[in-house]
Amino acid sequence: MKENTKIVIAIDGHSSTGKSTVAKELAQHLNYIYVDTGAMYRAVTLFALQQKFITDNLNTDALIKALPQIQIDFKKDTKAGLITFLNQKNVEDQIRSLEVSNWVSDVAAIPQVRKKLVEQQQKIGSAKGVVLDGRDIGTVVFPDAELKLFMTASAEIRAERRFKELQAKGDTQVNFEAVLENVQKRDHIDSTRKDSPLLKAADAHLIDNSNLSKEAQFNLILDLVQEKTSGPE
Ligand code: C5P
Repeated sequence: MKENTKIVIAIDGHSSTGKSTVAKELAQHLNYIYVDTGAMYRAVTLFALQQKFITDNLNTDALIKALPQIQIDFKKDTKAGLITFLNQKNVEDQIRSLEVSNWVSDVAAIPQVRKKLVEQQQKIGSAKGVVLDGRDIGTVVFPDAELKLFMTASAEIRAERRFKELQAKGDTQVNFEAVLENVQKRDHIDSTRKDSPLLKAADAHLIDNSNLSKEAQFNLILDLVQEKTSGPE
């Protein structure tokens, strides 16, 4: 029997497909650790903005040199789920801004940045009992993960969700076209970069949630988890 087996769950997919919501709920339900790897790339991007390594362009060399100065931590919070800290400062809200979103895929394309963050992700996940969401979890970070999901939905539906989220947070400047453009731009950069491009692992379950309710999706995923963690070998 595989009863109570702790596994690694890798959730990859396009931006704004609800990966982090599902990952968070799943981790809570299973009493697993949740790792939001996108938040880590966002925190590095925020650091680059704060240090003025990003003006009209991204100063890649300066950012690579400064990488040892960057420390990223997560703290569990009963209300928000998970809070991201950059050098001991809570940056959870700042890393979700459109400014960070606009640069994060360029920062995430730098191999040295990926190496640093992937090492940290592998360390956290080595104990199993972990849910990670990102772009390269099932292909690069944990290619042996017991359960891999690849989430997608149409760009318009994803932009609509992100737009509403930003509005709900009180962002009055945001406009739908800019959000859609950002979603499409990130899809393109993430899928075409040389290092660890976004792609579905051959053994990942494809979930297109364009027309799937949150509940139906969660139950579908729980069934997949059940298959991996219980029953005969
Ligand atoms: O998941 P989220 O949308 O917050 O991720 C922000 C960006 O970070 C992605 O668009 C992608 O460029 C990058 N990312 C990545 N690899 C990961 C997670 C995120 O390249 N594992």
